[in-house]
Amino acid sequence: MNASHAVVIGGGFAGLSTAINLAHKGISVTLLEKNDHVGGRARIWESKGFTFDMGPSWYWMPDVFEDFFGRFGKKVSDYYELHRLDPGYDVFFPDDERVSVDASMERLKAWMEKLEPGSFAKLTKFLDEAEYKYKVGINDLVYKPSRSITEFIDIRLLKGLIRMDVFSSMRNHVNTYFTHPYLRQLMEFPILFLGAVPSNTPALYSLMNYADLKLGTWYPKGGMYSVVRAMESLAIEKGVTIRCNAEVTGFTYDGKSINGVCVGEEILDADVVVAGADYHHVDRQLLPEDKSNYSERYWDKRKLAPSSLLFYIGIDKKIENMEHHSLYFDAPFDQHADAIYTNPRWPETPLYYVSNTSKTDPNAAPKGCEALTFLIPLAPNLEDSEDMREQYFHKIMDRFEATMGQNIRDHIVLKRSYAMNDFVNDYHAYKGNAYGLANTLDQTAILKPGLKNKHLKNLYYTGQLTVPGPGVPPSIISGIVVAEEISKDFKTLKKKPQTV
Ligand SMILES: Cc1cc2nc3c(=O)[nH]c(=O)nc-3n(C[C@H](O)[C@H](O)[C@H](O)COP(=O)(O)OP(=O)(O)OC[C@H]3O[C@@H](n4cnc5c(N)ncnc54)[C@H](O)[C@@H]3O)c2cc1C
Repeated sequence: MNASHAVVIGGGFAGLSTAINLAHKGISVTLLEKNDHVGGRARIWESKGFTFDMGPSWYWMPDVFEDFFGRFGKKVSDYYELHRLDPGYDVFFPDDERVSVDASMERLKAWMEKLEPGSFAKLTKFLDEAEYKYKVGINDLVYKPSRSITEFIDIRLLKGLIRMDVFSSMRNHVNTYFTHPYLRQLMEFPILFLGAVPSNTPALYSLMNYADLKLGTWYPKGGMYSVVRAMESLAIEKGVTIRCNAEVTGFTYDGKSINGVCVGEEILDADVVVAGADYHHVDRQLLPEDKSNYSERYWDKRKLAPSSLLFYIGIDKKIENMEHHSLYFDAPFDQHADAIYTNPRWPETPLYYVSNTSKTDPNAAPKGCEALTFLIPLAPNLEDSEDMREQYFHKIMDRFEATMGQNIRDHIVLKRSYAMNDFVNDYHAYKGNAYGLANTLDQTAILKPGLKNKHLKNLYYTGQLTVPGPGVPPSIISGIVVAEEISKDFKTLKKKPQTV
């Protein structure tokens, strides 16, 4: 089969990555994005001199970004400046207990030894194992398209399966090393990025602890949107045509292939189509029943990663004694997890996260001001109303002001909330999910929704609901993987210039 023109649906990290990789192979690519700018969940909001990354704010795994740009003979530094945050982040526990996760781990060590003597030596061993998992996981496993179990029948991987801890849970793994509940919680924190609870997540993912504590937390100058801008520039350099305000509404077919992508009344020709929009939206809302990969029942049974309630707040003063990233774990974790995963409800006492970008980046807020983003993880599909959002705003503000010992509410000059209904309206997010599908054992690799449509020869999927999973680095990798699969399945041909 030949392919000279691809249409990519959605301008998030996965769609941009796919478009760049396909264009690099010589194929002509049109990327269609429903919103007025690309970035998807990583869009930006600017108002009254404040700038907010609307979604991701943690830049982890810098090697993945370097590898991405390196594929095209570029470096991250060709596009944006990267700084390692030190401390990477602060965590607040009950009883005024606070820890800074510093790059040298000196402060972390002192804190750990205070709570549990001997625990830092255990951390060193824990991280050695995590490093092994990271290296095998990131260099090998995550780049597998997961179309067949045979991809994983590799002696090195089979031998390493036990060491990779695929079949034990992250919770058990952490518990064998650490006893103090705060240490356990700190080690379990990176799992929250995978959208699942530690008891349900393979211990393989302690690789995230290596990413956290060894590789560090970074900040791209200008915010996470600088990465989107970089990928947008690279896509344009590669000749990708990017069209915003172009919502895909359906397809036309020629037997077992799509031959046209509909944007309202307009139909664009396509040899290959890659859906980087939410998988469920394309599968169930854009395709007819006989061409969709999975039933509504299948989707309903998936364990989604959480949705979120976010507040983007501009205040007219500086906050003292606050780092760029702070986690407020001063409430029972298991109760909040139960409210997300087991008995979906608004949590009684939520854990929350605050990003204070202007601490690092003076351009994020006017002089003397602060740009703050508050995030509460929530179960997807909860009833979302202005009243509820406001109630939770005050719930966390009461605690935030008490913990930090500073008044915030009297200084607010800008405020916007964002939650489930917005995720649905802006991104067609299934059940208003924020992070896609949880990386539980039964939703890993070949057990995830597949990257290829079973009924149509030229429709593929990419992004956080398929392999390898949620998060910015996995979404970028997802685009690489799907482009590789297309070039295996199709002969990608340079498009001939059109003659008039
Ligand atoms: C609040 C929040 C915080 C997060 N924090 C982090 C973090 O700190 N670090 C991290 O690594 N990850 C984080 N994540 C996860 C990360 O942002 C996502 O996994 C990643 O951005 C998903 O990229 P994607 O390309 O798969 O999907 P998306 O970004 O959703 O892109 C899909 C695109 O498709 C478009 N689209 C939908 N329907 C159509 C249609 N019919 N036609 C055309 N276009 C369409 C959408 O508008 C969207 O632009 C966070 C996510 C959220 C929401």
